[in-house]
Order: sequence, then C-alpha cells, then structure tokens
Amino acid sequence: MKAQRPVVIWLTGLSGAGKSTIATALERYLCSQGQHTYLLDGDNVRLGLCEDLGFSDADREENIRRVAEVARLFVDAGLIVITAFISPFARDRALARAVVGPEQFIEVFVDTPLAECERRDPKGLYSRARRGLVTQFTGIDSPYEAPLCADIRVQTLGSAVQDIVRQISEYLNRRNRG
Ligand code: ADP
Repeated sequence: MKAQRPVVIWLTGLSGAGKSTIATALERYLCSQGQHTYLLDGDNVRLGLCEDLGFSDADREENIRRVAEVARLFVDAGLIVITAFISPFARDRALARAVVGPEQFIEVFVDTPLAECERRDPKGLYSRARRGLVTQFTGIDSPYEAPLCADIRVQTLGSAVQDIVRQISEYLNRRNRG
C-alpha cells in the first residue's frame, strides 16, 4: 500500500552539527515525493518516552535503546523513520543497528567540526557548558565517538542543507534500485 521500502535513517553528530535541520528538510522532501515518514528527535522522545532519563552514559545508552526499539516498530509499520540524536557512542549505534536490523538501518554521520558547532551554538548550550552550567555535554566534557564506517557522511560546512538532502535521497534511490 505504501509503495516504499521502510528504513531508518539514523543521523548522528555533535550538538549543533545540523541533525535536526537536515532531518526536517529531508522529511519535507520525502513527503513531497509521496513517502510516509516519521521523525524521532529529542523534542518528541526526551519529553515523553524518555523523560525519566538524564545524560549519564547509562541513561544515554537507554535513551538510544528505546529510540531504536520505537524506530523498529515504525519500520514494521512501513514508515521511513528519520532519527536525530547525538548518539555519541559507537556501541549504542551498533546496538541500534542490531535492534532495527542491519538491512533497514542507514547511519548518517553529520560531520561538522566541534569549533563550527560551538560557533553556531543554536541553543546556547556550548556557552552554558563552557561556563560549567551544563555538565556531561558531548564534545566538552563527554566524548563523541565519530563513526568510522557510516553509510553516508555529510559535511555541513560549505554545503547547503538542500545539497545534503539530495545526497541522502540519491543514496536511498541507489539502494532501492540495488
Ligand atoms: P543538531 O540537531 O545537530 O543539534 P541543529 O539542526 O539544531 O543541530 O542546528 C544546526 C545549526 O546549523 C542550525 O542553526 C542550522 O541553520 C545551521 N546550519 C548551517 N549550515 C547548515 C547545513 N549545511 N546543514 C545543517 N545545518 C546547518
């Protein structure tokens, strides 16, 4: 009925890297193509399903596990799921891939240098982290393990959002043909 191949497009990267911006633009594009999508991000997950979780390593792991389980259910329902979470630990991303199923999991590394993320600082969080008002902040006092073999790597420095959306959609088209 949906005439599409369900999949999870898992965006990972530092805070301010551009995950939400890309996810929103990608969702808008896919919808314009008649595709059925769902976007999971901190705003709709951290406030509800994961409201009991903080930012310790264990809580981050549990947050990603729950997101992966929900993404798996949406894939089961036939949707193209886009997730936008820092997901800083390689181990947790590997778990997400295993939960969803490797055939239906596309890891997208939104590769933006820390200095650029900090310059953008869209939510003022880096500034707060530098002043010690936010702790365990990825890139400042909590690590980000960059993916070594993401399915797609996009660079937001020097590329327009629409170019990145095209890069991802072309990958999806190649995959659907293959
Ligand atoms: P994240 O979800 O990774 O924390 P956001 O999408 O909330 O990041 O913020 C990224 C910021 O970077 C936004 O203010 C966005 O406008 C800006 N930006 C600049 N260039 C790009 C680009 N090429 N792709 C995505 N975001 C970009």
